[in-house]
Amino acid sequence: MPSNSYITECGKSILINREFRFRRLTLKFSRRENAYIVTAPFFVSFKKITAFIESAKAWFVKIENAKTQESAKKITPGQSISVLGKLLRVDFFPNPKPLVLLKNDTIEVHGTLSKFETILLGYLKNLAKEKCTHYSSQYAQKLKVEFNRVTVKEMRTRFGSCTSHKHLNYCWRIIFAPEHILAYLCAHEVAHLKEMNHSEKFWKLVESLFPDYKSSRKWLKQHGNELYQKF
Ligand SMILES: [Zn+2]
Repeated sequence: MPSNSYITECGKSILINREFRFRRLTLKFSRRENAYIVTAPFFVSFKKITAFIESAKAWFVKIENAKTQESAKKITPGQSISVLGKLLRVDFFPNPKPLVLLKNDTIEVHGTLSKFETILLGYLKNLAKEKCTHYSSQYAQKLKVEFNRVTVKEMRTRFGSCTSHKHLNYCWRIIFAPEHILAYLCAHEVAHLKEMNHSEKFWKLVESLFPDYKSSRKWLKQHGNELYQKF
């Protein structure tokens, strides 16, 4: 076995990188090289290195799990995603100029393949902002209230928030939900501009903007997690 690589008991190949400047043994996963790498001081014995690798079993399991989760989240050309509740196939077209075209049942992503996901994500986030701004403005007008700005960003614990500075924040992932769910979310946050709580008065306001709010609220509770499955 060459001294610059090692196969673990569970079959993982590890590159061993020995150098004079390294002072201790370290183990890492390199995304760029898609490989496990051990750095070792030059004079450390091979036996000591392999013992070090074999002692890190729990760490390997953690990394492998994270990798599986990540690849499940990766979107590749030809896959379908639900946008505003409509299932659309995402197609890729090599093109020096990045561009996204929404067709009847496809999303055409033009650009370089390495930027495929970035271009698609940028498009989806813009679309989310456009839709959230549209519905927020519509409901604010109805309630005769004003907001300062709409921000669409990553949010992990909820899909929307309304601050005392009249900023409306939305999680961009709401773009994967049916459009009426996105609209309900906007009605909910806009109602907070008048009532900063979840009192009966608040829900009356929501109802005045979005009469069938109960089923949408239930949908978000039941399916909210699914909006985190992609990306
Ligand atoms: Zn609320």
